[in-house]
Amino acid sequence: MATIDIKDKTFETLIPEEEIMRRVKTVADRISNDLKGKKPLLLGVLNGSFIFAADLMRMLTIESEISFVKMTSYQGTESTGKVKKLVGLNEDIEGRTVVIVEDIVDSGLTMEKMIEYLKEFKPAEIHICTLLLKPDNLKRNLDIEYIAMEIPNDFIVGYGLDYDGLGRNLRDIYVVKE
Ligand code: 5GP
Ligand code: MG
Repeated sequence: MATIDIKDKTFETLIPEEEIMRRVKTVADRISNDLKGKKPLLLGVLNGSFIFAADLMRMLTIESEISFVKMTSYQGTESTGKVKKLVGLNEDIEGRTVVIVEDIVDSGLTMEKMIEYLKEFKPAEIHICTLLLKPDNLKRNLDIEYIAMEIPNDFIVGYGLDYDGLGRNLRDIYVVKE
């Protein structure tokens, strides 16, 4: 099993590239089937989803568009604590079929906030598509229709996901070694 070092940590292969591609294709086929004729707008959440979003879009067999947004974290007031804000939405999404494309849903907090923001712009429908889900950590009640893969609660990198900015270029997904 291949291991790699990034900064102070060692990672080992968790999901090889071929498996990732198979899973992405399965999700793409479902979306193509479910959203036929709706010309969905894929909304990739930066930075982590950029590779997944590119592969997913190329595997769709229906017309689609793509745009990217970012959820920025900053310190709010003492009572609100850390606040997440949506930035970069330039598209008019009113009346459109939107598919949020995320790299990973962990606690679900980011996704919950994201949906709250998007709803204000009155899209016709919002669907969630995530490359990865950590089901054991999910704290929010979200209707995640499209999940490429479920993984345990360990820290992973690769295929767009980073450790301190690094590792996004890795073709396989790696998990941190204890
Ligand atoms: P949530 O709000 O669902 O708890 O967190 C989602 C975000 O946490 C993801 O978009 C991602 O940026 C980050 N995250 C959660 N788990 C991992 C992980 O195992 N590896 C990496 N690189 N990021 C993660
Ligand atoms: Mg993300």
